[in-house]
Amino acid sequence: MFDIRRFDGVIYGADYNPEQWPREVWPEDVRLMGEAGVNLVSLGIFSWALLERAEGEFTFEWLDEVMDLLHAGGVDVNLATATASPPPWFSLKYPDSRPVTVDGVRLEVGGRQLYCPSHPALREGVARLTRAVATRYAGHPALKLWHINNEYGCHIDQCYCEHCARRFRAWLEARYVTIDALNDAWGTAFWSQRYTDWAEIQPPRRAPTYANPTQQLDWRRFSSDNILELHTLERGILTEITPDVPATTNFLGFLPGLDYFRWAQEEDVVSLDAYPDPGQPDSHLEAGMVFDLTRSLGGGNRWILMEQATSAVNWRTRNAPKAPGQMRMLNHLALAKGASGIMFFQWRASKAGAEKFHSGLVQHVGTERSRVWREVTAFGAELKTLTPLLDARVPARVAVMFDWHNWWALNIDSKPGVIPLLPLLGRWYAALRTLGQNVDFVAPGGDLGGYDVVVLPNLYLMDDTTGADLRAFTERGGHLIAGYFTGVVDGQEHIHLGGYGGPLRDVLGLWVEEWDVLLPGQTNTATLNGAQVTVTDWCDVLHLDGAEAVATYDGRYYAGQAAVTRHASGQGQAWYVGTELPADALRDVLRGVLDGAGVPHTLLPAHADLSASALPDGTQLLHVLNAHPHETLTLTVPSGGTLFPDGGDAGTRIGLPPYGVTLIHYPYAVQISDVQVSGT
Ligand SMILES: [Zn+2]
Repeated sequence: MFDIRRFDGVIYGADYNPEQWPREVWPEDVRLMGEAGVNLVSLGIFSWALLERAEGEFTFEWLDEVMDLLHAGGVDVNLATATASPPPWFSLKYPDSRPVTVDGVRLEVGGRQLYCPSHPALREGVARLTRAVATRYAGHPALKLWHINNEYGCHIDQCYCEHCARRFRAWLEARYVTIDALNDAWGTAFWSQRYTDWAEIQPPRRAPTYANPTQQLDWRRFSSDNILELHTLERGILTEITPDVPATTNFLGFLPGLDYFRWAQEEDVVSLDAYPDPGQPDSHLEAGMVFDLTRSLGGGNRWILMEQATSAVNWRTRNAPKAPGQMRMLNHLALAKGASGIMFFQWRASKAGAEKFHSGLVQHVGTERSRVWREVTAFGAELKTLTPLLDARVPARVAVMFDWHNWWALNIDSKPGVIPLLPLLGRWYAALRTLGQNVDFVAPGGDLGGYDVVVLPNLYLMDDTTGADLRAFTERGGHLIAGYFTGVVDGQEHIHLGGYGGPLRDVLGLWVEEWDVLLPGQTNTATLNGAQVTVTDWCDVLHLDGAEAVATYDGRYYAGQAAVTRHASGQGQAWYVGTELPADALRDVLRGVLDGAGVPHTLLPAHADLSASALPDGTQLLHVLNAHPHETLTLTVPSGGTLFPDGGDAGTRIGLPPYGVTLIHYPYAVQISDVQVSGT
């Protein structure tokens, strides 16, 4: 069990890359870390080339010195296994350890993450380095956490080489046992694809046209599992040598390649790298959705924001800085959503290399004349007053079901239309947040017991087990709402015949005959609560079988038929949204679902963010943030609250300036419906 108390209060720190700087800078770094309130640094993430300059020959003296300096300065270490990027000598000595793209191109030396996850020498090298680092520092007093590898799958989430092809075949044989079972699962009767031997099976490399869809889906599953094997190889060595030191690897939120619900089972604590675009007006929603996912991956436990930028990044077409106050506001958002640590990439902005324009705590200008430095030191001091947050939990009555397998299946080519899942998910999430809801994410098979409402934004791939779980959820009194193109295929990506909606047809009280995919610019309208709303992108043609219409289409050949429905199912209700509604209309439908489920809600301006967290003594904290650069907010809150952490009566009306943050502590659980927030 991971215990956050092994750290000195709320974690505050950064990736520290002393190898980029002369030795004389290191003591100054440690002194400045003290000034900023830094208590943990991630060290050695890209140090393989310095630690192992020739195969099996290790040079640790420089790292010894840094570890000792940090410890003497009161800074703990999140020590990397340093396996993130093999040195050039390795990639040149083992040329077939370099990954291969879908087009058969073997990638070259000069970037990072240049490795095939299956290559025997790579796996040996990773194990050798991990064992050497762990053995060297097992007893070092600065070591508090292991940082395994770095951003697995960030650049290379699939390698199409022969080593991977062999492992893919073995993975398939374990899954299907017989080649006939594979042929059935892949539907190889189509297009003359029948296999007669395992050896004939290839990764879905570039083909004349669409590769077999189930081959593509299984390839995605294999690729996530295969990289996870590399991770558990390191994890096992660390557990063997330092059983008492927790380990983590830094996740990337909604990363397409890795099924993090599976991966999170291997982590002592879940950690996240998050880089929302601070130039976008909804960056707080983008960040919040990833933070909520991260907490959910860890089963609701607190997590670590391992990397973010103090200001700008370097890899977008245009890289907006974080405006004064914006970094603090986003850090508070992470804390409100369960973070127990606020860390950055990187301590000192690089002088050279690909990320030299990525902001750091110590900017190129130095510290004394730096706005960013003033903000990071002020926040470091503020964090020391926020230690009680480490005991808070983030209770949610609403869960959004998210499934990497569904995401992979949706992204496979040859569909009725391209459905970009993340923007769609973002619209549902934004509507729920506007209604003041804490939101969890849950995977199929996850525990739904604690939720009143479960949202299925677009669960195209749904097996019968998930359908049965959702049926049981509504029978117990749960309220369900599904978006269009849900329940269309099973886990093998085969159609559920007899009307779309498959395993949920009886729960929803309807079936879907077909869909009208609208072209760009094309619209239809629907009547919802007596008002006409414009709908776009997609219109399911629904037939009711027990459900009642909440909205009906006005135009096209299915005019008068249901667009949004509601159905009593067991003790609960099941709703269906068969089209792409405008944001206000989606929010109104969700409000109806919350009302039916007895879940209190409010209505927030787009730039307001409200979260509620629960402390162990039954008291509650409201976290209210203003994400707008110019406009103010006014909060109307119940009496009895005190300002946190300073104390003092919070009153019932509070003004919140641009990028302002207010935490209010209540001796009881406040109803969100009693909190009103208005914009200027
Ligand atoms: Zn490979």
